[in-house]
Amino acid sequence: MRTQKCHGRVITALVGCTALVLAVTGTTSARAAHRPGPDRQVLPAGDGWAAYGTGTTGGAAAGRAHVHTVTTWEQFKAALADGGSAPKIIRVKGVIDADGPSCDSFAVPGYDFDAYLAKYAPKSWGRTTTLDGEPADSPEGLRRASAAAQDAHIKADVPANTTIIGVGENAGFNGASLQIEGVDNVIVRNLRFESPLDCFPQWDPTDTADGNWNSEYDSAVVHGSTHVWMDHDTFTDGGHPDSTLPYYFGRIYQQHDGELDVVKGADHVTVSWNVFEDHDKTILVGNSDSAATAAVDRGHLKVTFHHNLFRNLVERAPRVRFGQVDSYDNHFVAGDGYSYSYGIGMESQLVAEHNAFTLPAGAKAGPILKKWKDAPLTAADNYVNGRLTDLIAVHNAEIPGETLRSGAGWTPVLRTRVDPAGAVPGLVDHRAGAGRIG
Ligand code: CA
Ligand code: CA
Repeated sequence: MRTQKCHGRVITALVGCTALVLAVTGTTSARAAHRPGPDRQVLPAGDGWAAYGTGTTGGAAAGRAHVHTVTTWEQFKAALADGGSAPKIIRVKGVIDADGPSCDSFAVPGYDFDAYLAKYAPKSWGRTTTLDGEPADSPEGLRRASAAAQDAHIKADVPANTTIIGVGENAGFNGASLQIEGVDNVIVRNLRFESPLDCFPQWDPTDTADGNWNSEYDSAVVHGSTHVWMDHDTFTDGGHPDSTLPYYFGRIYQQHDGELDVVKGADHVTVSWNVFEDHDKTILVGNSDSAATAAVDRGHLKVTFHHNLFRNLVERAPRVRFGQVDSYDNHFVAGDGYSYSYGIGMESQLVAEHNAFTLPAGAKAGPILKKWKDAPLTAADNYVNGRLTDLIAVHNAEIPGETLRSGAGWTPVLRTRVDPAGAVPGLVDHRAGAGRIG
């Protein structure tokens, strides 16, 4: 006989977690009358940093007048604006286009991309001056005005005490950018986010020696907010991966930014059972080392990531600054172009335990960690291609110039369920993401 922990309860059994799931499922009909439907579910007690203090209930207490079912971007925005911070539930039915009819629909009169390329080509404009000082009637000024029109359309502000939840197995947004800014108590579940495409990336001749096209718009941003639970969502570039984007001035015309950013003093966030896939710069926890940002972020940015599938990403899963991030029971699957998973940034204290990494045959494990700044982390019980691997030791052996220190200096306690790393791929691959909350 052996003792193991499944779904928060310790059992003594000859069977695994799967058998317990079946046993629990068998009792649901008897208890169904007493359990809330998915619309009114709240974050379970103790389930990650979003359970800290007052916990996260979203719109669970909404009165009938504040339960909305929406099928268009206009209806969704109207539902968000209804009733201030009264608890509200917004049910998203089907896939909603948030990106307008076309990029042309946002362009202001006179905007001409060919004129932009002609004026700012490195051979004429050079590589030492940004375009920020360009006047309103210049190609850059017209780009700025066009970008502002897109910005206003595709961003949606989420108020306090809100649950946004997909109905059924095929709900989500194309090209939306959720702004969870300066509010408390938000739940976002069961939604597929196909990344926004910035119609008007800005050329920065001074970003690296070769210049870069930079774009705005993350699928979701948690900006200075508290108690946010992102659960069973899918974030993906979907039908427009970076491999389909054109090149101008010899650089990729990058139209994507992040999938999920947690920034500007945000705190107490749980990110569970999501799929993050087919993307480059995936998740930032903290977006700057600057003194002004440090003053806002230091002591905050506490985020838990568990049971997420990180598949075919380039980098930032996540890149961490300042925060105490707990990342456990996640499955990372590397594909072509893989750079790193965890970015160790300024004053971060990452704990990475019980995770599984699937790397291509022959790939080294050292780059799973990337050192941006000297900061300590805890890494234990992580498996790489099925083998127990000391991520820090392997990193330090393979990349001698980037020695990382062990010992994050804190121990996560807000965990309801810890699965052994070896079981994580089997669990997460089939149960993470939108369309799977049953
Ligand atoms: Ca569209
Ligand atoms: Ca961003």
